[in-house]
Amino acid sequence: MRLKDKVALITGAGSGIGKETALLFAKEGARIIVVDINESSGNQTVKEIEQIQGDSMFINVDVTDENSVNQMVTEIKNHYQTLDILFNNAGISGIGKLHELDLQSWKRVFEVNVTGVFLVSRAVLPFMMGNKGGSIINMSSCIAEIGLANRAPYAASKGAILSLTKSMQVDYAPYHIRVNALMPGTIYTPFVEDYLSKESDPEAAIAKIKERQLSGDLGKPIDVAHGALYLASDESKFMMGTPFMIDGGVVNG
Ligand code: NAD
Repeated sequence: MRLKDKVALITGAGSGIGKETALLFAKEGARIIVVDINESSGNQTVKEIEQIQGDSMFINVDVTDENSVNQMVTEIKNHYQTLDILFNNAGISGIGKLHELDLQSWKRVFEVNVTGVFLVSRAVLPFMMGNKGGSIINMSSCIAEIGLANRAPYAASKGAILSLTKSMQVDYAPYHIRVNALMPGTIYTPFVEDYLSKESDPEAAIAKIKERQLSGDLGKPIDVAHGALYLASDESKFMMGTPFMIDGGVVNG
């Protein structure tokens, strides 16, 4: 088992990539703290983890809310007293061209996708600093490197994550904490389903996405979960501050 007895916190673990990663980490022996704003889906992930192993808990957190995140730290102290792995995965989409976009929508994308990473990381870093070790995985996207229509706020937020990852790595390397970023391509999850449902012709939109992928198809959550597992485990111990692309070849297509 690659994560035996490690304690892993995964934000946005109620759905999609976060959920698949939670299940994979559990199979590899980790104890999982499932964090999500959605109570029923978070509890569902815990139920599924319990079918693999018994050691998991759900904490209902809005990663943009400082009080909610502080409450989470109290619960971690009460249950596990330690943390080895943090996957900053929770995120939302941000669609629209700048001239059509209202300030609130712009701010919300940055609040969840960037400020949420700041708040959760700030809250749990003391556990890792005390342990003198840990692995943090920040969720970026391949969109940080390619221009896609109607996605400026989302792309900008995921670009910010790459810069943040590098700065965090430099600051926390003295504590033997590694900080890397994942850059997935289009992965079939509720996040993408939601985006497709807003298109006038969802079939055409999905065909266009497939055309861009050298793989010829969208990715699956497990494709990214395997990348997260590598970054979480000691197998990636020489990776520090690095973006890890899992994109079905879209960037090279
Ligand atoms: P998803 O919508 O299936 O899951 C996201 C989860 O985050 C949900 O359970 C949601 O409730 C939770 N969440 C949202 N806001 C939150 C908040 N404020 N506090 C706590 N939890 C919150 O999405 P997914 O496709 O699995 O995406 C996961 C991450 O991967 C996101 O950061 C996304 O930007 C990134 N990503 C996704 C794709 C893709 O194609 N699916 C590609 C690249 C990057």
